[in-house]
Amino acid sequence: DLTLKLKQYLDVPHLIPTTNGTLPIQIALNVFANEGEVITTPFSYVATTACIIWEKCTPVFVDINPDYLTIDETKIEAAITSKTSAILATHVFGNPCNVEVIENIAKKHNLKVIYDAAHCFGVTYKGKSIFKYGDVSSCSFHATKLFHTGEGGALFTKDPELFHKCFYR
Ligand SMILES: *Cc1c(COP(=O)(O)O)cnc(C)c1O
Repeated sequence: DLTLKLKQYLDVPHLIPTTNGTLPIQIALNVFANEGEVITTPFSYVATTACIIWEKCTPVFVDINPDYLTIDETKIEAAITSKTSAILATHVFGNPCNVEVIENIAKKHNLKVIYDAAHCFGVTYKGKSIFKYGDVSSCSFHATKLFHTGEGGALFTKDPELFHKCFYR
């Protein structure tokens, strides 16, 4: 079973194979973003913001850290309003976002976190697959990425209930 092999290789508890790396972001937003405001980065592939629009949510852009090119976590809280439902951040070129700070912000404000991890096949952070951080992560297996299947991708989550919801969405 290829899905099982991939799960073992990446050391992740749940994985849904998808047709591309965009679909997992859309599925996650569809499951929990409730057409709210989604805090995101302006420095990513166009699919990141397109998913927010397609799922009838509103993108709220927060600037990036000039050294790491990922969302500047110190500017996230100022962008949160009563309509914010999620944070959608990109691990740019395999540089992990500041996942600890983002997790604390999300907990404090009761927000979901999606990582666009399109560039992150095989990336680990503190000895753990980068796909285990956040509520949902998305990887792309497009021909332009680190590991590819022509077209393809996968949704990752460590939460069995969320896995079930995303799988049947
Ligand atoms: C490639 C890419 C995507 C989209 O992946 P597809 O498999 O082409 O749908 C999304 N986000 C980022 C950052 C990407 O580089």
